[in-house]
Amino acid sequence: MNPKWNGQFSCFDLVARKDDSAATTVCAGGVEIGGGDFVVMAGPCAVESEKQLLQTAESVAASGARILRGGAYKPRSSPYAFQGLGLEGLKILSKARAETGLAIVTEAMSEEDVDLIAEYADLMQVGTRSMENYALLEKLGGCGKPVLLKRGMTATLEEFLRSAQVIAMNGNSQIVLCERGIRTFETATRNTLDIAAVPVLKTVSHLPVIVDPSHAAGVRCLVPVLSRAASVVGADGLIVEVHPSPDQAMSDGAQSLTFRGFRDMMEDLQPYLDLRDSARRAGPRLVGAGSAD
Ligand code: PEP
Ligand code: MN
Repeated sequence: MNPKWNGQFSCFDLVARKDDSAATTVCAGGVEIGGGDFVVMAGPCAVESEKQLLQTAESVAASGARILRGGAYKPRSSPYAFQGLGLEGLKILSKARAETGLAIVTEAMSEEDVDLIAEYADLMQVGTRSMENYALLEKLGGCGKPVLLKRGMTATLEEFLRSAQVIAMNGNSQIVLCERGIRTFETATRNTLDIAAVPVLKTVSHLPVIVDPSHAAGVRCLVPVLSRAASVVGADGLIVEVHPSPDQAMSDGAQSLTFRGFRDMMEDLQPYLDLRDSARRAGPRLVGAGSAD
């Protein structure tokens, strides 16, 4: 390990990796994240209607997703934008779980909503804008459900792990970290996917790490290639936006995949995942014996 990282992150003792720490496996509604499988979470940015969500759930399940995403409470940059269906959205998510068997991930924006959302969700999402909302993080420590903690868009990895430590200190060490792109000077993409964050986090922490290529890219054409990148740098999974008709989406349509686009992406990922599994079995061997000259 880079000695710098050791001093920098080891103070977050509940989430930092120690020499003898085993990787944490997070169990969300029966789906194990961090246990070796590449777990894909997919669904719309926001729950818009029962029809939209159920159609999406069926389609992404058939393509291999294990967890359904969909915001019922939406943090929006503009106060005039769609704010989500609230409780009605949670009920629709729960119906989709009953019909497809997918687990549910959805965002909690305020500590006041945590108890209600925890009755419906299998994985409680903390959005980028809330990463340093300590009242929310403390409440999630006692919510009884695992947490998907997204990296703040201007947060360093040290600040990111500090927020994970707050949740763990309050009693909940079932935490999945999510790299979703950070704000840089670059404007060609919505955010800059910090791909190096994945191996750094996997080295300094025992928590599972997933990637959100959708909010990083901001455009759907980049989502498959960023997903491939995530799979080869050792991510434990993805969270991806998918919509039945992205052009009509109430939020984040430009970065949402169609059903067909998602299915193609999942098919394209397979050889990369197979390669990663066989490399893991074979162990590190960059140069064969006897070929030193
Ligand atoms: C989302 O997942 O729809 C979302 C708002 O993500 P982020 O908090 O990463 O912007
Ligand atoms: Mn979104």
